[in-house]
Amino acid sequence: MPGSSQKFIVGLVVFLAAGALIGWMYDAPHIGFLVAGFLAMIWQVRQLLSFNRALHTGDFDTFRYGEGIWQQMFSRFSYEHERGSRYKQLHRQVLKEIRKSTNAMPDGAVILDEGNEIEFCNRAAKTLAGLKRKKDRGQRVDNILRDPALTRLLAVNDATQTVDIVSPVKDGAWLNCRVVPYGVNQKLLLLRDVTSRMAINRMRRDFVANASHELRSPLTVMSGYLDTMADDEGLTDTWAQPVQQMQDQARRMTKIVAELIELSRLEGAGSASTEEIVDIVGLLTSARKAFSGQNDVPAIEVLPGSAARLRGNGGEIESVITNLVSNAIRHTPADGKITLDWQTDAKGADLIICDNGEGIAEEHVPRLTERFFRVDRGRARQDGGVGLGLAIVKHVLSRHEAELHVKSEPAVGSEFRCHFPAERVSVP
Ligand code: ADP
Repeated sequence: MPGSSQKFIVGLVVFLAAGALIGWMYDAPHIGFLVAGFLAMIWQVRQLLSFNRALHTGDFDTFRYGEGIWQQMFSRFSYEHERGSRYKQLHRQVLKEIRKSTNAMPDGAVILDEGNEIEFCNRAAKTLAGLKRKKDRGQRVDNILRDPALTRLLAVNDATQTVDIVSPVKDGAWLNCRVVPYGVNQKLLLLRDVTSRMAINRMRRDFVANASHELRSPLTVMSGYLDTMADDEGLTDTWAQPVQQMQDQARRMTKIVAELIELSRLEGAGSASTEEIVDIVGLLTSARKAFSGQNDVPAIEVLPGSAARLRGNGGEIESVITNLVSNAIRHTPADGKITLDWQTDAKGADLIICDNGEGIAEEHVPRLTERFFRVDRGRARQDGGVGLGLAIVKHVLSRHEAELHVKSEPAVGSEFRCHFPAERVSVP
């Protein structure tokens, strides 16, 4: 190219000089120079126009077989043009492969922008959730998959959390949703069909619920007879203690059965209604009065907390308070102290039960809400613990979109904090 530029400039200079020379011969070199310049300009403009025409028609023969700077320009242009086409072809091929592989995936994948609007979705997203790549592009995904749990998941944007939602298109199907941060301010929503896992869970739940219901009636009969026997004045000394033990065990079994039935009910129930307004401080005060009347109970104090109320199920929240306070009492010496607190801030509300009792070793804390988990099985059996209390607490809280946070240190004490989201708080 530099060679052709030089040639072009030399040619132009020679042409202009020739014009000036001819003009000089006629005593007007400047006119000759101007005429030469004008002719050179006309020729260049013609070349420019025919290049423009060639761009439209695609017929570059004049330039392809010509020479000089316009041919050079054409060579450069056609080289870049072909290179561009090759790259375009390559990109198209890569894009096709990527689309083919995402479409072959059994899981749904949806790319969302920062406003949760759909940018792209694969074929599985269509079969699992009815999302259509072209029609739904630009639509907010939470307007199509309407589930409050998914809306919350999209807001937290935490790849470690998942939620299960009902598929809007596949009858009886369940989808497990995960949101992964992706690209610049984008998100990837992954949808996995977990219908079989949900069916197994339901079978397990139904089995436990049915077995518990079936056990309830024989247990009532046995407890009734045992109570009658215990009250019978003719009961010999040899039988007094065995009957007493049978009564204790029957009571324990009745408690287990009742708590299993309650757990099954909570697992099957959806989100708790927000219609009822619950006076938490009132419930804490009642719990303090009820427990303080018993023997060997540590001091219980209700802190002057927030006046805000909670939108939820009063009976269930009362059972959370009863479970947490009775646990605190059982694991705190009589000269210890238990505090009950209800605090609110912009992020929501916290129900906090603190004790300065025996505490829990760090390795046990993550397992506390498992069914039948007890730190000390032998002791729990003696003090009436069956290991279902905190599982019930967890389920009631999840029905209120709340979470249980436990902080504990052996020999120092424990803090059980139930955090409720701001939508559940009602300020008088
Ligand atoms: P349980 O019926 O045995 O009380 P929970 O599910 O309520 O069952 O509690 C599970 C276990 O957690 C208990 O067995 C106990 O070891 C431990 N725990 C619960 N609350 C406390 C507490 N406030 N202090 C110490 N340990 C506790």
